Amino acid sequence: MQIEIRDVRKDYGRVQAVRGVSFSVEEGQLLVILGPSGCGKTTLLRLIAGLEPVTSGTIHIAGTDVTHLPPVKRNISMVFQSYALFPHLNVRENIIFGLKVRKVPADEIERRLKRVVDLLGLSGRLDSKPGELSGGMQQRVALGRAIIAEKPVTLMDEPLSNLDAKLRNSMRREICSLQRRLGITMIYVTHDQVEAMTMADRIVLMRDGQIVQDDSPENFYERPANTFVARFIGTPPMNIVPLCPTQGGAALEPGGRLLFPGMDPDRYLFGIRPENLRLAESGQPAMVTGREYLGSDTFVSCEIHGQEVIVRTRGRRNIREGTVVHLTWDPGDVNLFDARTQERVD
Ligand code: ATP
Repeated sequence: MQIEIRDVRKDYGRVQAVRGVSFSVEEGQLLVILGPSGCGKTTLLRLIAGLEPVTSGTIHIAGTDVTHLPPVKRNISMVFQSYALFPHLNVRENIIFGLKVRKVPADEIERRLKRVVDLLGLSGRLDSKPGELSGGMQQRVALGRAIIAEKPVTLMDEPLSNLDAKLRNSMRREICSLQRRLGITMIYVTHDQVEAMTMADRIVLMRDGQIVQDDSPENFYERPANTFVARFIGTPPMNIVPLCPTQGGAALEPGGRLLFPGMDPDRYLFGIRPENLRLAESGQPAMVTGREYLGSDTFVSCEIHGQEVIVRTRGRRNIREGTVVHLTWDPGDVNLFDARTQERVD
């Protein structure tokens, strides 16, 4: 185990920013800490980096208890959202700054610099100042500075959030491929579920200072632990509606077939992803209330007994508002949640 976090807490006065968090990261794994604004993910990363002291709990990196060690003794490198480049230094000086501080020999610095510059395609820009570079190039320099340190663990806090969508996509792939090629153990903080789903070996989703689910991207999507996760991952989010047989008897049962015989309908919520609902000749009647055309797909909004559900269909669908359609689905695609606790029922 490369990183092990045990029951870590952080209080700022009366604010409990991190409330008893435990997880571990294997060597060479890319773990994403995901969650909405204010959930405590940046605080947690700063605790792991040693930029803030923990209130309680322990942090181990590569088998060593680093809980009370300063950042320089933790054998990690970091990349921040702000890049934190020195404006008066050129690209070369920014990248090698940390090595010079650590008095790494000059020929060793040159060897590592060449490798990093080749990896990141920065060769033509070594003499430029950060202010002369695009956001993407500045981000590369920040990455270069982290990689050149050759630390076994890298921590990243929203490193792509200042970039436009297209550049974010390509940098995302670049970071992943670097991480795999160099075998770095990485913790990557983001509020962006797409970033988390595409990059992570494992995702830790936080809410109010606690972990809600710690799992593979596949399980996050297919087996969300509760309705919060189900709604957080996926665009548009999972449809979650009460099972309500008192409203028309057959509500949300496919083709009139009892989906969950013997279950108390007031106790459960029915969840299904938009792509797992199909428009069919027969099945659950629903009225079309709207349509969103994206080119590759059309999202059709429908209403069933006052509940809105969204159906994702391929290509273009010219369905008018007010049309009555029929919906079907495979029982295997249904997620059931406890209506009171909102937790997944298996
Ligand atoms: P964001 O994505 O908006 O940065 P986050 O998930 O990273 O959010 P944190 O920045 O870790 O969340 O903040 C978690 C909680 O701790 C928030 O309520 C925040 O106001 C509080 N907090 C963070 N840093 C401090 C501090 N230095 N002093 C007091 N409260 C703080």
